[in-house]
Amino acid sequence: MHKVTTTILGYPRIGPRRELKWATERYWAGEIDAAELARTTASLRTEVWRELSEAGLDGIPSNTFSLYDQVLDTTVMVGAIPERFAGLTGVDRYFAMARGAEGVPPLEMTKWFDTNYHYLVPELGPHTRFRLDFGKPVAEYGEARALGLETRPVLVGPLSYLLLAKSTEPGFSPLDLLPALLDVYAELLERLAGAGVTEVQLDEPALAGDRTGADLAALRRAYDTLGGLTNRPRLLVATYFGEIGEALPVLAAAKVESIALDFVAGPGNVHALASLGGLKDKTLVAGVVDGRNVWRADLSRALSTCASLSGLTDRLVVGTSCSLLHVPLDLSAETGLDGGLRGRLAFAREKVAEVVLLGRALREGHEVIGTEGGAVLAAPPANERVRARLAELGTGETRSPHAVRLAVQKEALGLPPLASTTIGSFPQTPEVRRARADLRKGVIGHDTYVKSNREEIDRVIALQERLGLDVLVHGEPERNDMVQYFAELLDGFAVTEFGWVQSYGSRCVRPPILFGDVSRPEPMTLPWATYAQSRTGKPVKGMLTGPVTMLAWSFVRDDQPLADTARQVALALRDEVTDLEAAGIRVIQVDEPALRELLPLRRGDREAYLSWAVAAFRLATGGAADTTQIHTHMCYSEFGEIIGAIGDLDADVTSVEAARSHLELLDDLRAAGYGRGIGPGVYDIHSPRVPSVEEMERALRKASESVAPALLWVNPDCGLKTRGYAEVEKSLANMVEAARRVRTSL
Ligand code: GLN
Ligand code: ZN
Repeated sequence: MHKVTTTILGYPRIGPRRELKWATERYWAGEIDAAELARTTASLRTEVWRELSEAGLDGIPSNTFSLYDQVLDTTVMVGAIPERFAGLTGVDRYFAMARGAEGVPPLEMTKWFDTNYHYLVPELGPHTRFRLDFGKPVAEYGEARALGLETRPVLVGPLSYLLLAKSTEPGFSPLDLLPALLDVYAELLERLAGAGVTEVQLDEPALAGDRTGADLAALRRAYDTLGGLTNRPRLLVATYFGEIGEALPVLAAAKVESIALDFVAGPGNVHALASLGGLKDKTLVAGVVDGRNVWRADLSRALSTCASLSGLTDRLVVGTSCSLLHVPLDLSAETGLDGGLRGRLAFAREKVAEVVLLGRALREGHEVIGTEGGAVLAAPPANERVRARLAELGTGETRSPHAVRLAVQKEALGLPPLASTTIGSFPQTPEVRRARADLRKGVIGHDTYVKSNREEIDRVIALQERLGLDVLVHGEPERNDMVQYFAELLDGFAVTEFGWVQSYGSRCVRPPILFGDVSRPEPMTLPWATYAQSRTGKPVKGMLTGPVTMLAWSFVRDDQPLADTARQVALALRDEVTDLEAAGIRVIQVDEPALRELLPLRRGDREAYLSWAVAAFRLATGGAADTTQIHTHMCYSEFGEIIGAIGDLDADVTSVEAARSHLELLDDLRAAGYGRGIGPGVYDIHSPRVPSVEEMERALRKASESVAPALLWVNPDCGLKTRGYAEVEKSLANMVEAARRVRTSL
């Protein structure tokens, strides 16, 4: 066996203080020019390479930087620029593709596999003509080289690129473009070799999903072609986010030098590799340090995985399971975190150190790890009360069937047919944000803060009464974010100060860390909801974030099944529901916009997921009285495989995003046996446009052909927090009028 070395598959690019965000946003605002933007980004790249080299990492990646998104970079690199951007060039064309320009819509954005990163979807069709633009990877390689650092350019692999694309014409499959795309990649590899590159990384995360025979044939063809080139760098095909199943033998037989496998999200890859008899004459990059979560690695476990792998490869490289793009940069910046928790965490920098240490341990002996480094730090002690209550509760279902509830609620709430409501948040004005910031900084005291929020609630309630909405909301002025707000109030969660992770482009999120048993020390929404209810005779809808969304948008402990953690969050929410109900709140919405997001990549894993996800929602809501109307909300209208789960949630009312075709959605729901209340968002809150009465009236008339008036709800398609009052007032007024017109003509 050769000497063991180390690498990572990618690194955060936003900078320690989100420098990339500020620089791009200032560029967009016209405050800095392209040259200054380029200077800032160059220094961010330099910092990363220096840091990785100083940490002692052997293989340093390059081209992991992106001004916006690596898939968009690939689209530019292969010249697959949609026609509508033809008039533009350079960085402005790049940003136009990302964000749209005057009259030119951007590329569609969607989730990068099962992460919270979003990429820009390539648009490919029969008329796509690729043309190589090798500028970026070659330039970045050259930049690093000028610093005296040899790097491995990282590229999106040709198969994944095509599988991530959408077809611009029905009946056309982007995979048909493989031969043409391979020509471009072949030329690129030649260029890179000419520039002195000795190894490139081709990312093929698509292999962690279910793949057809045609996909696998394309995989074989791609790497036979690229591997067969004579003048090329060494090829590392990187897979991550799970087991690669049938793709493994194909890759093992391909003419590439190295393969990266994820042994964290895909522990079964070890066994699969062993059954195959290992990789002959190939390097294995073993992803044993988790690139997706924030926990310190169990180094002894990682070492024993490496030990079982060393017999299965010619050459072993210790690495991360995937790019470190998905974790925050630097734990040492988090001075406010509890010491015990800090000791359990590793962000990107600390993960690099773990990889380097593992490499040393494998070369020099396990002693280098020391006792402290090898110890697995346990989660804080269990909350026995929470565990006992959950054990006793079972499914926690106490409600009557929906038909019974429907009648009881009609009586209790007295709502008209086509009842109108909103999704929860009202515009977060500068004043609302300032009050929260001032409280945090200690500029104002708690009493002043409460007073200012109550005044805001007064305004929001008065507005809704004036508009004639039927079910009111308090407007959520106290919430910075629908997950973080609850994470700050629940035990078992911690929040970070600088733990930013790129979500898309310049947008970063700071996911809370769910580190221990979850419990609710005191009510979280009760005072705001009851205050709002005290100001009106109409029902005020209580507003909670559901257990699945709380997990999906946090870093979650990995020492117990997600299902168990979800039940703990659900119990805390269930207690909140009980308190709200006891205080006279008669309608409660539990948002689950992330229900579809956590859906496993492989079909075979989905049923188990949906079963615990639905159970957690029902545990949270299943203790409500029949008279209490439970709503839920999701930010999409194409349910696909979760369509059955929507009914299984057993909420009384579900509101969804404005559907391109409401009728189809309603038909799908009916076909799936959904007979509960439904609020197909009648206008799109993502745009400032004020929809007319007539267009919403039309949408409602159509919907009322397939949904009984008592079950049809009238609402916008999401919360209003990003909008301004000027358009919100007009839009809601039109919406209420549209509902009134349809109602009176029933
Ligand atoms: N209740 C939340 C709001 O109105 C829901 C947000 C969401 O669905 N993402 O803002
Ligand atoms: Zn929404």
